[in-house]
Amino acid sequence: MALTTDLSGKTAIITGSNSGIGLGVARELARAGADVILNSYTDRDEDHALAEEIAAEHGVTARYIQADLSKGDQARALVEQAGICDILINNAGIQHVAPIEEFPVEKWDAIIAIMLSSAFHTTAMALPMMRKAGWGRVINIASAHGLTASPYKSAYVSAKHGVVGMTKVVALETAKEPITANAICPGYVLTPLVESQIPDTAKKYGMTEEEAKQKVILERQPSKEFATTEQLGGTVAFLCTDAAAQITGTTISVDGGWTAL
Ligand code: NAD
Repeated sequence: MALTTDLSGKTAIITGSNSGIGLGVARELARAGADVILNSYTDRDEDHALAEEIAAEHGVTARYIQADLSKGDQARALVEQAGICDILINNAGIQHVAPIEEFPVEKWDAIIAIMLSSAFHTTAMALPMMRKAGWGRVINIASAHGLTASPYKSAYVSAKHGVVGMTKVVALETAKEPITANAICPGYVLTPLVESQIPDTAKKYGMTEEEAKQKVILERQPSKEFATTEQLGGTVAFLCTDAAAQITGTTISVDGGWTAL
């Protein structure tokens, strides 16, 4: 039988998808025919407008559901409110950079809650839905920092390593079912999360913002190019195809060679 790349009839929940990688993933999944549920913690007209725009562009159903994923009960309510989840993309994330002895406790708690605990809650809620449907994909947006470390990113690196570990556990718990669980590990992607770090980096090193991008931010990315949100979306869409049915419990790096160093 021909392997399909068509995701018509599947519904994807993408956490943290009113911006950056999550929005890129939502657009690519909709392009492949999936209905999509967008999410963030805000509830603005423009959040709902993004869902309307995707629905109109791709002829799919798209909804926006507000949920603050720093709260476990709201992470669970997101999946419950969606009512259906064939594809779960755990993507929401934040960053804070500081030496460990100065790292604010509330930042540590928020990063672990939003990037690690929320994926535990959404996965726990989504798996029964996938089992009922007889098909499922759990795709966690981890990071090159899920496989390697950098100084001053204790919470981020810990959360991302945790996400990679949890991905393997979910893969083993679903191994005999038509459900897969994988983590994608991007290097640097030019999104608001990274753009916000550029002015401070430039100031710290006495460089222009362009020099800071090339010489500091992309220092560990051998390609010297940012990955794009479309490339991340395309990688997610591939993991949802039949060709990827035996890819489970692993990480896929989209990092311009970072983790090959
Ligand atoms: P971004 O800031 O553009 O997007 C983050 C998303 O998470 C936004 O939609 C934001 O609203 C949402 N979010 C933040 N706090 C939330 C909360 N409490 N509840 C619900 N949603 C919340 O950043 P991005 O670069 O697109 O990051 C997306 C994911 O990709 C993150 O997990 C990040 O760690 C990961 N990542 C990014 C890069 C990169 O270079 N940009 C590299 C590796 C991994």
